[in-house]
Amino acid sequence: AIVPSGLAAVTIPLLTFVSAGDHVLIVDSVYHPTRNFADTMLKRLGIEVQYYDPRIGAGIASLIKPNTKVVFTESPGSNTYEVQDIPAIAKAAHAANALVMMDNTWATPLYFKPLDHGVDISIHAATKYPAGHSDVLLGLVSANEACWKQLYEGFCTLGCCSGPDDIYQTLRGLRTMGVRLEQHQKSALEIARWLEEQPSVAQVLHPALPSHPDHALWKRDFCGSSGVFSIVLNGGGQKAQHAFLDALTIFGLGYSWGGYESLAVPVFLGDRTIAKGSYAGPLIRLQIGLEDVEDLKADIQRGLAAAAEA
Ligand SMILES: *Cc1c(COP(=O)(O)O)cnc(C)c1O
Repeated sequence: AIVPSGLAAVTIPLLTFVSAGDHVLIVDSVYHPTRNFADTMLKRLGIEVQYYDPRIGAGIASLIKPNTKVVFTESPGSNTYEVQDIPAIAKAAHAANALVMMDNTWATPLYFKPLDHGVDISIHAATKYPAGHSDVLLGLVSANEACWKQLYEGFCTLGCCSGPDDIYQTLRGLRTMGVRLEQHQKSALEIARWLEEQPSVAQVLHPALPSHPDHALWKRDFCGSSGVFSIVLNGGGQKAQHAFLDALTIFGLGYSWGGYESLAVPVFLGDRTIAKGSYAGPLIRLQIGLEDVEDLKADIQRGLAAAAEA
């Protein structure tokens, strides 16, 4: 199903498959608007929402109740990039007759194939890499054979259809997505490795780096990494975080990544209840675009110097 935004690709399958009295398990590192939808609309509709640790793996079985309908996953998690053990979660969920939904926006279907790993419903914000030029909003929902009929009925019932021009632009983006992603991957990895050597950076949260706690899991299941990751500054508070962002000249400020241009945003983890983590300083999320890597490093260097002075 093609829907008008990535967020609609999250809300439509949830509205289609859950009913009053059901219990839904949602990963705590989920995209913030997904959490907001669950905490407001799903709760108002009488659905019990519970968050779980992204690193729970097979342990999800202990949280599943007789009325658990959906286990919602997103891997890697938004902003902090915890990798979930999707096959283990799917096995436990299916043993209890619960469905598994996955927001796979970060990897795209080129670098992770949810249905091959046991997911029932796969969700993508096509706004990001598929469209690729920061000028279209679109969402995609796919399902396995068992779930497709109900998903399609829910999609038709809700009337959230997309405009033909947005679909056309996304089809055009798909023609170059493979080569764009390869470049995003290469540039992001080069910058992430370089950032690991900077004394003013405490940590680089990128699952394709061997230093990442979930690197082995990422390597087992994914066949590539995209261009978005976060850094943890070595100390300092919001003042240092803002000074870093204010000093950037090539990176823009913007939440909706996946386009050709580099972007940075401050990360706020205040909504989390479980995966709060313990970090040495403020977090900044970087989307590495298609610009020259040396230019981007120089820009980040300006940000790091400003943060250190703040
Ligand atoms: C951006 C994003 C969405 C929502 O996409 P929109 O098209 O902006 O509504 C959903 N999930 C994830 C993980 C995202 O990064």
